[in-house]
Order: sequence, then C-alpha cells, then structure tokens
Amino acid sequence: MQNLTILGSTGSIGISTLDVVARHPDKYRVVALTANRQVDLLFRQCVQFKPRFAVLLDVVTAAQLRAMLCDAGLKTEVLCGVDALEQVCVLTEVDAVMAAIVGAAGLRPTLAAAKAGKKILLANKETLVMAGHVFMDAVRASGSALLPIDSEHNAIFQALPRGYNGDLKGNGVRRILLTASGGPFRNTPIEALQHVTPDQACAHPNWSMGRKISVDSASMMNKGLEVIEAHWLFNASADDIQVVIHPQSVIHSLVEYVDGSVIAQLGNPDMRTPIAYGLAYPERIDSGVAALDLFKVATLDFAVPDFERFPCLALAYQALRSAGTAPAVLNAANEIAVAAFLDNKISFLSIPAVVEDVLNALPVNSVTCLDDVLEADACARRAAENKISLLIK
Ligand code: NAD
Ligand code: MG
Repeated sequence: MQNLTILGSTGSIGISTLDVVARHPDKYRVVALTANRQVDLLFRQCVQFKPRFAVLLDVVTAAQLRAMLCDAGLKTEVLCGVDALEQVCVLTEVDAVMAAIVGAAGLRPTLAAAKAGKKILLANKETLVMAGHVFMDAVRASGSALLPIDSEHNAIFQALPRGYNGDLKGNGVRRILLTASGGPFRNTPIEALQHVTPDQACAHPNWSMGRKISVDSASMMNKGLEVIEAHWLFNASADDIQVVIHPQSVIHSLVEYVDGSVIAQLGNPDMRTPIAYGLAYPERIDSGVAALDLFKVATLDFAVPDFERFPCLALAYQALRSAGTAPAVLNAANEIAVAAFLDNKISFLSIPAVVEDVLNALPVNSVTCLDDVLEADACARRAAENKISLLIK
C-alpha cells in the first residue's frame, strides 16, 4: 500500500491522479489532499477518499470545509495556510507526494517533500525552472525517487535506459527530442495574435489543462519551461534538447542515440498515462486511458518551431543559457504576465514583451540557496507589475 499526499488535488492533474487512484484501492491510500480555495470539490474528494488531512489556503474556506465535514460525520482534519502544505508532505506515514500545484506556489512544499526523502511525482515544472539546482541537490541528498509527470519528460524517462545516471553521452544519447503540439495558434496569422482572447488561448487542440499552463502552451512558454525542466531532470544542455512541433500530440517525446536509433513513447494525450506510470513505477497499472488506435491516428507530422511566432520559446533558451537566477526571473515574469492576460489587462503579444523586458532588465545572479531564488522571483514579479502598469496606462 502506497500512502499519498496530493498537492493541488482540485486541479486538472489532481483530478486525473484521483481518477487513477480510485481504480486501485488495493494499492493507494490518500493521506492528504490540498487546494487553494475550491471548497466544494475538495469536500467531495474528502467524502470519496477519506484522507486524514485536507488543506486549504484561506481561513474562511477552511472553516467552511471543517463545518461541511463535521456535518457529514467525516474525521478528516482541516489545516490551513502555506505551512500546512509542507506539513502534509513530510508526514512519516506519507510515501509519495504528487506535486500538482500550479506555479511558484508549488516550490516550497515540493522541496519539503524532496528533503524528507519522499517519492515525488513531479507535475509542477515551475519547481525545477525556478530552483532546479537546489531541488535536484535535495533529491540527491535524501535519495528521493523523482518521477517526471509532465508527459514529455515522462516519455523521455521511459525512453532513456532504466536507472539513467545523468550522463547522456556515456549512455550513447545524441539528443533529446521534445515534442510540442504548437498549441491553438500554430497557424493563426501573426497579426491576429494581438487580439486573441483568454478563452481562445485556453482552447488547446489536444489537451485539457488548467488555464495557466494552457496559456503557456499557446505562447509556447510551456515548451520553454519544459526545455529547462529537461535540463535539470536529465542533465542535458540547451544544445542537447531539440524542440519538435508535432501537432497530433501522440508521440510525447523521443531520445535519439548515436547508433541512429530513436526511441519514442506514444499514447493518447491523456495525463492519466504518465500519472499511472509514476504511481506504479517500475510496474505498470491500468490508467483508464483508451488504447492508442494507430489506424485512426494514421498520420504523424513534424516541423521545426517558429521562434518568431513564439518568442517565449527563444526567451526560455536564453534564460537557460544565462543560468543562475535567469530561469526564476523568466518564470516569475511569465506568471505575472499570464495572470494579467487572463484578467484581460494586457494582450496575448504583451506576454513575451513583458518577459523579455524583465529578463533583460534584471541582473543574473548565481544560485546557492533557496533565498537567492526567492529574491529573484520577488524582484521579477515587481518588475513585471511595473512594466504592465506602463502598458495599460
Ligand atoms: P490547475 O490550475 O488545474 O490546478 C492547480 C491546483 O493547484 C488546484 O488544485 C489549485 O487549487 C491549486 N493551487 C493554485 N494556486 C495555489 C496556491 N497559490 N497555493 C496552493 N495551491 C494552489 O493546474 P494543472 O493544469 O493541474 O497544473 C498543475 C501543475 O502541473 C502545473 O505546474 C502544470 O505546469 C503542470 N502540468 C500540468 C499538465 C496538465 O495536463 N494539466 C501537464 C503537465 C504539467
Ligand atoms: Mg508537457
């Protein structure tokens, strides 16, 4: 029996995780569920999974959940606030933590899980983008098992030799090929991008996801963050990682070897596959995902990414090459810009403009501890807010 904490259980990844867990009551037990403020859904999840703890960020909704659980006769204890997120990651009885909070908010609890030596199912790519160095050091020091849940990284993990030791060349790997659908605006005329709405940006052709990552997919910042994520997970340099546009999202990524072999992982675009893989590793379990029908897929297309259409992708490569605090700055500026776009305050094309401005304005400092990262994150957020206030004047 594996005991789980699910951070961000009310989100897209959290819901898919609970769907897989529910199929295997003999294998997984939920110890803690956490959410920002979606009290009704968290209550329903508590009724179904009967966790020992439920965490909400805000005091008012936490009190509400406490009352609802009490009325329903459930014993789940409700905790509140950011410290509680860390608390439920380090409990002795917890074996594995699904890190599925969106954005920088996921960093602290995920890092706490790594320090405590828990098995980590990592969906929150922002943890690695912001603090890859600090996080990977913590994983190595505690001996945590780290399973990538992002579909591309899960595919690469599956295509690399079992027990991969962080040495691409030593394992005969020539390149990592990171696939990208190209999002909803792959073929939209560039002039029209100025006027696209948040709902259009969130209408991903293949994947159903939270709104932040959906906008990132539309701008291809998501792929940029994933390049940085791949750097840390697989000890790959920017030059080792080639982004490949693949509109069908059937090949989730590939590894090219020096002998000419290219090993890919294929499947329907459904996050329950990488989640089930992470949960059961090194075994395989049913995920509820339909079998891939190759005859229905019929065609697989590939293209080189268009850096002019997707400047965010180039900015992410720039940040990775700059190293130090640059990726944390990129991530923070992007989070602020995406939130402003989702709030209808700035246009879609202002997202890369804000990120570029902030990335070029702030110094690149070296990262030796978490505080270096948090300081860069805070500076970049302020700089991005300033830039946005100038744009909307
Ligand atoms: P989502 O917006 O659907 O869900 C986010 C979850 O985090 C919710 O449970 C929400 O309550 C919680 N949350 C939000 N802000 C919080 C805060 N400040 N503090 C604590 N909790 C907070 O997001 P998602 O699409 O499920 O994505 C989650 C993470 O997984 C992201 O880092 C994303 O990049 C990554 N990811 C998602 C997908 C996908 O298919 N959705 C694929 C790959 C990677
Ligand atoms: Mg992905």
